[in-house]
Amino acid sequence: KKNLSTKNMSIAPSVTLAITAKAKKMKGDGEDVISFGAGEPDFKTPENIRRAAIKVIEEGSIGYTAASGLLELKESICEKLKKDNGLSYEPESIVVSCGAKHSLSNALQAICNPGDEVIVPLPYWVSYPELVKMADANPVFVEACEENGFKYSVDDLKAAINENTKALILNSPSNPTGAVYTNDELEEIAKIAVENNIYVISDEIYEKLIYEGKHISIASLGERIKELTIVVNGVSKCYAMTGWRIGYTAANREITRVMENIQSHATSNPNTIAQYASIEALNGDQSILKDMKKAFDERRNFMADRINSIDGVSCTKPAGAFYVMMNIKEILGREIGGVKIENSMDFANYLLDSAKVAVVPGIGFGSEGYVRLSYATSLDNIMEGLERIEKAMDA
Ligand code: PLP
Repeated sequence: KKNLSTKNMSIAPSVTLAITAKAKKMKGDGEDVISFGAGEPDFKTPENIRRAAIKVIEEGSIGYTAASGLLELKESICEKLKKDNGLSYEPESIVVSCGAKHSLSNALQAICNPGDEVIVPLPYWVSYPELVKMADANPVFVEACEENGFKYSVDDLKAAINENTKALILNSPSNPTGAVYTNDELEEIAKIAVENNIYVISDEIYEKLIYEGKHISIASLGERIKELTIVVNGVSKCYAMTGWRIGYTAANREITRVMENIQSHATSNPNTIAQYASIEALNGDQSILKDMKKAFDERRNFMADRINSIDGVSCTKPAGAFYVMMNIKEILGREIGGVKIENSMDFANYLLDSAKVAVVPGIGFGSEGYVRLSYATSLDNIMEGLERIEKAMDA
């Protein structure tokens, strides 16, 4: 038998999948499981967007587009970047890909060489370290700890940079912490990036889900940082279009050309129908943005306050996205309901077994002492789920 790829054999399966799979199985067996595992809005894709897709299907011309996406969609993206983010890009600087995850993959493939280091925030979104490794580079974790609002500290960032540092990943608003960087904080990070000549991969996929403060794209803070930044965004989270698989990058022409070439061989264009639907998403009625934000904000307030009313756990109220990191450090090492809780996986398993509540263990994001709860589920579910967690903690 021949060996498989050594590099790719080292790609970790998602730790979060184990719990999610177990919760799904229990649900399938008819058990009344409440899941806080969701990574996507519990809203339908708006009707105008679905209709735009249906129109394309009915007309029937569904061929390839340019590998990097339809010009009309790139123009809509440029308008959006101008209007929302104060960023001026030409369509030649845009690559439309199969979801923001694909955009991140293209970005890392385009800039990394073996031995390069890419700074990743800890806790991290599960795919960042693996995407870095797939690009032959090494992830270097810089803590974005709760005491610092789950954000990078300037000193830690500076200390992590050396001659091998190629890029840093910035994710504001953040998955899994909901942290949103302020203008001043971004100015400092931009300064560090420019001084050290390192790229910034700015993952702005949760841009539209901010409840406190406002979104600023680091690329908008000056020409030099814009040159170094690859802005990653998409329609998945803000328009409830996760399944359509459309994301995009905006970057300098040189990086864009490399990403285009990679994509032209790896996937060709992203799905044509979904591209037309995305044009409608960006140009059509925007009321979903307001509706989702309002619903999420209400749930966020409830969830954060309720968690902080439960003995033994706590949380920092997140400013964006739809996740709360629940701090469980106080209960580690304790026995609850006859079960010894040594780590976040034990706690997640305990909640699922005893209370039928699914949460994602922090270890999946590289951070022990936390579990992540998503509030992309109904307020009723959130109330009931947290009630169950409180009871389970009392056991
Ligand atoms: N970036 C972050 C931080 C995410 O949480 C996600 C999805 O969970 C993505 C990127 C990927 O988005 P998409 O579904 O468009 O690939």
